Amino acid sequence: MKASEIRSKWLAFFESKGHHVEPSASLVPHNDPSLLWINAGMAPLKSYFDGRVIPDNPRIVNSQKCIRTNDIENVGKTRRHHTFFEMLGNFSIGDYFKEETISWAWEFLTSPQWIGFDPERLSVTVYPEDEEAYRYWNEKIGLPAERIYKLDENFWDIGEGPCGPCTEIFYDRGDKYGDLSDPECWPGGENERFLEVWNLVFSQFNHNKDGSYTPLPNKNIDTGAGLERFASILQDVPSNFDTDLFRPIIDRTCEIAGVRYNENADHDVALKVIADHIRTVAFAVGDGVLPSNEGRGYVIRRLLRRAVRYGKTLGVDRPFLYELVKVVSGIMGVYYTEVVDKREFIEKVILSEEERFHETLSDGLSLLSELVKAAETAGIREISGQDAFKLYDTYGFPFDLTEDYAIEQGMTVDRAGFDTAMEEQRERARAARQDTGSMNVQGGALSELTEKSEFIGYQQLMIEDAKV
Ligand code: ATP
Ligand code: MG
Ligand code: MG
Ligand code: MG
Repeated sequence: MKASEIRSKWLAFFESKGHHVEPSASLVPHNDPSLLWINAGMAPLKSYFDGRVIPDNPRIVNSQKCIRTNDIENVGKTRRHHTFFEMLGNFSIGDYFKEETISWAWEFLTSPQWIGFDPERLSVTVYPEDEEAYRYWNEKIGLPAERIYKLDENFWDIGEGPCGPCTEIFYDRGDKYGDLSDPECWPGGENERFLEVWNLVFSQFNHNKDGSYTPLPNKNIDTGAGLERFASILQDVPSNFDTDLFRPIIDRTCEIAGVRYNENADHDVALKVIADHIRTVAFAVGDGVLPSNEGRGYVIRRLLRRAVRYGKTLGVDRPFLYELVKVVSGIMGVYYTEVVDKREFIEKVILSEEERFHETLSDGLSLLSELVKAAETAGIREISGQDAFKLYDTYGFPFDLTEDYAIEQGMTVDRAGFDTAMEEQRERARAARQDTGSMNVQGGALSELTEKSEFIGYQQLMIEDAKV
């Protein structure tokens, strides 16, 4: 089943259950200073959830573009993480609650008319005290007790505000993906044999200022499922990157680089990272974010530079990412017309940023060779941490590149000094950040969703950059 068909089925299924189909909102949050990016299907619907706005129809379904920079380290390493992905969601604003949510989830997943997963392969996790959810799974759906796991983490709570338990659905991908004797294999573990596909959040309490919990008068439902993960199962491929959402991008990159997919593990990581980052950048630019030195623009600039560097590991030493935009718009344009309508603009922005970065890299190299010469003249055999940091910060020069070059010249680089300079910059950024309270979405990623945590993602991006 093609990914576009899965998306259509999702929307049609919930429409048949009386839901209003809401188009994807922009990746850039509207009137919400607590978020850098829309990172869950519920994020653009917050005003309904906290009661500021009453929707015409309390049942909503969507397929929402999301960016999660906090997952950057996972990209290319796990089978299931992206920085840009589509979250399929169904929502109830004070309307239906647990019973319908669970029954419909099961119907959509197992009915041959919809996506038809083998019911035997499905397991769920519930919050230990959520007896209601347990009962629905066990008695109504008939899921045996040994496939219902009680997990303390299945409660989303970010301090004051609405909160509640969640239940997550996992698909067993079988022996090929891990041995059952591995404890990490089981739902909630790190192994990907049991693939988390869907999170159902039951927002039923208010976490009060004094730390107590009281039932909410209007209970809400917020669910999120990864389209790419459904596609990997339904297309019976090893990872999200092997689905029709990614393969054409990887194939085109292989053509450009003259390499083959599935031949060399390092190349495969590079191909996956590039395919991931080009989607993120193309969509962000399509939503009006331009590369810059701050905020969202900085994230985009870093992602592009990271993709350029991974391109170099494939032997591509010229701008090429802009050529992939056409492939992205070919795959995604059926639902997200912005990547078709704005394709030329997106290509131009990416090309000029790539050109700029290539220039920067060569400028950085000449500064580096001057630094080496000056050190030699002074009889010093080390590049200072400050200089390495300047190369990194001003020229986007990763630490490893500086170090490789220094080693070639018989020198070392002061790593500790570099780390200190990096930490100082982080402190400055931290001080500049304004903390805003926010209401949160989706169980697992709660702590990632505030601006505060977004910022950690952005730091991770910098840390990662230093490594690449
Ligand atoms: P995981 O544990 O796999 O990192 P999560 O628990 O952080 O996922 P949720 O916050 O519960 O994810 O989001 C709801 C759903 O969105 C997940 O069940 C998954 O299908 C999808 N999803 C979340 N993060 C990503 C990502 N980085 N890339 C692709 N899909 C994702
Ligand atoms: Mg989750
Ligand atoms: Mg999870
Ligand atoms: Mg996660």
